[in-house]
Amino acid sequence: MLAGKVGVTTLETIPMVRWSGIEGRPLVIAGPCAAESEAQVMESARRLHGVRVDYFRAGIWKARTRPAAFEGMGDVALPWLVAAGREYGLRTATEVATAAHVEAALHHGVDLLWIGARTTVNPFSVQEIADALRGVTVPVLVKNPTSPDLGLWTGALERINRAGVRALGVIHRGFAVASKSRFRNPPMWELAIEFRRQHPEIPVITDPSHITGRRDMIQDIAQQALDLGLDGLMVEAHPNPDQAWSDAAQQVTPERLGEILDHLKVRRETSVDAGFLAALEALRERIDRIDHDLLEALALRMRVVEEIADCKRENNVSTLQLSRWSALLEDRVARAESLGLGADYARELYEIIHRESVRRQGEIMAEEPSAQAPGRGKA
Ligand code: PEP
Ligand code: MN
Repeated sequence: MLAGKVGVTTLETIPMVRWSGIEGRPLVIAGPCAAESEAQVMESARRLHGVRVDYFRAGIWKARTRPAAFEGMGDVALPWLVAAGREYGLRTATEVATAAHVEAALHHGVDLLWIGARTTVNPFSVQEIADALRGVTVPVLVKNPTSPDLGLWTGALERINRAGVRALGVIHRGFAVASKSRFRNPPMWELAIEFRRQHPEIPVITDPSHITGRRDMIQDIAQQALDLGLDGLMVEAHPNPDQAWSDAAQQVTPERLGEILDHLKVRRETSVDAGFLAALEALRERIDRIDHDLLEALALRMRVVEEIADCKRENNVSTLQLSRWSALLEDRVARAESLGLGADYARELYEIIHRESVRRQGEIMAEEPSAQAPGRGKA
């Protein structure tokens, strides 16, 4: 059975509460982008210890897009991470990208591993990691691939799961897209939601640091993640963010992270309040009715498009008249705006409507005259 663009498979997992002990509130993973020195790691843990953090993170091996960037201290930093975690009673987490990383991290006793966005894109790398994880009980989180590809994300999870890892989750860190954006990696929430729909049993942890690339936007994105019912946050926190050797602009101090977490509103997915449930039910019925009307209007529009196509075909006129399309789009966007809808929203909507209309007209133009569908004759 296919759902969306990706085949849905069942993953054999254990619930997050069983591996993390966290229930009814978001799981928080925080720490510096990278381990830079023993003192920096220790200082990070010391100051995060007072903040409600469940796992202390630090990048040991950094997959950098460009070779001149700081690539992490490597194996030498593993004992720093583990010692800092022990000292301050924090479980530890790091990114692994090869079988050797997995072995080294487990050997030193790191408590949680994640696969980075640049690794998830490569099934060979993911398989190598999966093979190294066989028989391991530590939780493993899979970051979304840099490209907006749900199949790759799910595929990575399946590979890890087939290796027997059952304490699984994903990290939503936004996607690299060609168009300019105010985000470093636009969140494309629809993909996180679709992932959640296909795999409701897998916890989704949002990483507002890599989504925004800017510390002043972290609070908002973290709140949006919780408003969507996602399960936790991974936030980069550094004792001296401006001096960080990597991702300086997006890191916050441990104290600022504390404030961000304190300001978050954790909403419940449901409430048992009868008044609330009745009001919600009534509003949902209205939405259902409006959606049914919308679909009927779209179907009606398509019938008219078909008549236009018949008409053009008989008169040997091309499917697309650019001037008409420009005028139509301009009119609809202006109308939408006057109704309080966003211009970009209206434009995207009409691009979809028009694309399907051109496609359907093309189909009709290609038909033999005798193949004309009954009932679709001239009006
Ligand atoms: C990170 O978490 O430090 C990291 C490198 O993130 P990503 O894989 O999302 O780019
Ligand atoms: Mn980083």
